[in-house]
Amino acid sequence: MNLISTQTPTAELQALDAAHHMHPFTDAEGLEAKGARVITRAEGVWLQDSEGHRILDGMAGLWCMNIGYGRDSLAEVAARQMKELPYYNTFFQTTHVPVIALSAKLAELAPGDLNNVFFASSGSEANDTNLRLVRRYWQCKGQPERRIVIGRKNGYHGSTMAGASLGGMGGMHVHGGGIIDGIEHINQPNWWSDGGDMSPEDFGLARAKELEDKILEVGPENVAAFIGEPVQGAGGVIVAPDTYWPEIQRIVDKYGILLIADEVICGFGRTGEWFGSTTVGIKPDIMTIAKGLSSGYIPIGGSIVSDEIAQTVGAQGDFNHGYTYSGHPVAAAVALENLRIMEEENLVSYVKNDIGPYLAEKWHSLADHPMVGETKIVGLMASLALTPNKETRASFASDEGTIGFMTRERCFANDLIMRHVGDRMIIAPPLVITREEVDELIVRARKSLDEAYEQVK
Ligand code: PLP
Repeated sequence: MNLISTQTPTAELQALDAAHHMHPFTDAEGLEAKGARVITRAEGVWLQDSEGHRILDGMAGLWCMNIGYGRDSLAEVAARQMKELPYYNTFFQTTHVPVIALSAKLAELAPGDLNNVFFASSGSEANDTNLRLVRRYWQCKGQPERRIVIGRKNGYHGSTMAGASLGGMGGMHVHGGGIIDGIEHINQPNWWSDGGDMSPEDFGLARAKELEDKILEVGPENVAAFIGEPVQGAGGVIVAPDTYWPEIQRIVDKYGILLIADEVICGFGRTGEWFGSTTVGIKPDIMTIAKGLSSGYIPIGGSIVSDEIAQTVGAQGDFNHGYTYSGHPVAAAVALENLRIMEEENLVSYVKNDIGPYLAEKWHSLADHPMVGETKIVGLMASLALTPNKETRASFASDEGTIGFMTRERCFANDLIMRHVGDRMIIAPPLVITREEVDELIVRARKSLDEAYEQVK
């Protein structure tokens, strides 16, 4: 076998990649025609590809690289842990030091009585856990008919069957045979696209009330939980109007329904608090975590669960659920080191009080661009809605997503990673981004918008 390395010519790497690697969310024909971009190194907020381009990573990988690339101490911690105890499981009444320490740390950081952690290796797996856990909870409470979980259209909760089913991405539901039973969806609180003539406040209330309508439609006695991201990430950084989450909280409280906050993106400083739930003022019973928990250095996810749920389920024998890698010692040790760095460098307060407000000012300044309508930002996650008419909030006449795709391609050409979701452009840079790097991001974003606009105006 040929030795493949970063010295191998790009075309050769791309050909092998296209021949043998099935990519997530990627058109295989496009890969063969164009080849994938080969990323070889990274430092801070900067990526380098096999052609020597230095690229500003405006998406922190997939919203996960919170402490930035190139932190030696995480590698050192991983190496030490691998030598000492590379693996042991947490099934059948066994445990180990890293998972104990990480669980205790997460209980300390999480709000309210969220003091219990069930580990997984990803956000999708953690949401699978949540689906089974909330149903198990209601069984233990003597209400087994409470099985329905309500999610939102255009919400994202992962790619496993439960994750994709809880999520509301139509394109995912059609690939693989629909959604699993006992899951319902309500509309998302996206005022820009769906708000019509309503004020954002009225629209937020109306969309939250859809939860109550759905509960009454299926019968409150059948509903286990509602799940939502405090700020929708993959759906296009959709920030709900201020009226939305208080009304959701009121409704779940009224019907005694569990609230699951999917914090996979919003958690660990992204919104300027440790958790997005605090930012939007809700009190979840379960939080899904992943991504920023280890800043993507190693796969780890989990569910942080209330005392009430943990004690109720724990009082009735085994919860017949678990993954080989639940609480993996190396992953737990790396996550702990990541959290140590976040605290040592005060990254959450840096986002809230320094770099977040700085980026917000620059981001909103893009609103003067002829095709930028809404500009939204919470902490370090932000979006732009592209439109040919800011007054009517119209969509471009071409297929939805065309102008977004064109803009994203111009960003790539200008060595900036910015994603598009339809005609929304989104960023979520590493939390360590500096003011100078924010300035550079904005310069490249504006240039890319200008170049895309030239092609459509
Ligand atoms: N939940 C949310 C809110 C996410 O954004 C994601 C991934 O982007 C997931 C769950 C799934 O996480 P993973 O890709 O680690 O399975």
